[in-house]
Amino acid sequence: MVAKPTALLREARKKPGLMLSKRVSKLDASGIRKVFDLAGKLANPVNLSIGQPDFGVPQAIQDRAIEAIKEGKNQYTVTQGIEQLRQAIGQRLDEELGVAERNILVTSGTSGGLVLSFLCLLDPGDEIIIPDPYFVMYKPLIELVGGRAVLIDSYPDFGLDIDKVAKAVTDRTRAIVVNSPSNPTGTVLGRAELEGLAELARKKDLIVISDEIYNEFCYDEPYVSMAGIYEKTLLLRGFSKTYGMTGWRLGYASGPEELIEKMTMVQQYTFVCAPNMVQWAGITALETDMSEQVESYRQKRDLVYKGLSKAFDVGKPGGAFYIFPRAPKDEGAEFVHKAIEQNVLIIPGNVFSSRDSHFRISYAASDELLERGVEILCGLAG
Ligand code: PLP
Repeated sequence: MVAKPTALLREARKKPGLMLSKRVSKLDASGIRKVFDLAGKLANPVNLSIGQPDFGVPQAIQDRAIEAIKEGKNQYTVTQGIEQLRQAIGQRLDEELGVAERNILVTSGTSGGLVLSFLCLLDPGDEIIIPDPYFVMYKPLIELVGGRAVLIDSYPDFGLDIDKVAKAVTDRTRAIVVNSPSNPTGTVLGRAELEGLAELARKKDLIVISDEIYNEFCYDEPYVSMAGIYEKTLLLRGFSKTYGMTGWRLGYASGPEELIEKMTMVQQYTFVCAPNMVQWAGITALETDMSEQVESYRQKRDLVYKGLSKAFDVGKPGGAFYIFPRAPKDEGAEFVHKAIEQNVLIIPGNVFSSRDSHFRISYAASDELLERGVEILCGLAG
């Protein structure tokens, strides 16, 4: 029998003073932590802070994962991912983007692809350009590998200003990140913006990392991928959001051969592979029609936008499941605090930005909850 740690041991383990790396000492999760700390104290909050779908994993995908476990698909797979899934992904990409040859690496979520790409592209001091606001993971991950995140302000409409990007390029720039549809703004970049970026990237010989995790949640126009426009695009996609399987950890990367080869090598020494049974279920996922769920999210977008635009300065997001209104008096954190006091959970914009003027709402929630939340927030706007 294993002895339980004594109270003394437990206390000793909590004490700071370990020799941790400088790299991690700079990490700070305080923005989101504050919201969740407050959230923990609320009973039945109107929770509009969660970045994951409120629908379940479709039955056929669940069944395939369970079947795969029972068939013994529980060991490591080859690092690059099982051939059958890579073929299905390749076929999907070819149909959409019309490029016959693809280098594909199956990753542990889109996050896995981000980690591997930053590790492969950045030496200490190298720079990556990111439009601000940005997905929370980008900046700390870039800094963890010793790189520098160079932020391009994209307020107030969250479009991509190519002149600003051009001005930010230095001889240390290694890549530009685009995330369309965006977390946290829901903005979708159009073909003209992406072609402008491709022209600049080609001139400067830069990789574009295109985080397309919300590609299926594009409501007003057909989705345009950077990978169909610019040859040096590293496309990153995932299954988390589209199929409601955030905890299953499946994604993929596709791009220039040399980069995918190196990312595969680094995966071998880190993640090893994406979960075996989940890879098999991923093939079923790619055959599953999610248009009903996407249509329901388009309606949620309309509901939330219509309600909020009466009281807030807010643009209509074209995709993902977030909306990013401007807070009264440009004080995002203060407004979020007030909202939480009224039992509504939202995230301050400064978690995703160097500015604190906005706040993020996730509308991946029931219509009833959304209606309640919108009413309370509009009431607070004064
Ligand atoms: N990229 C963006 C823009 C996201 O919003 C998220 C999750 O919230 C991820 C990547 C990570 O997703 P995954 O679950 O595929 O690792």
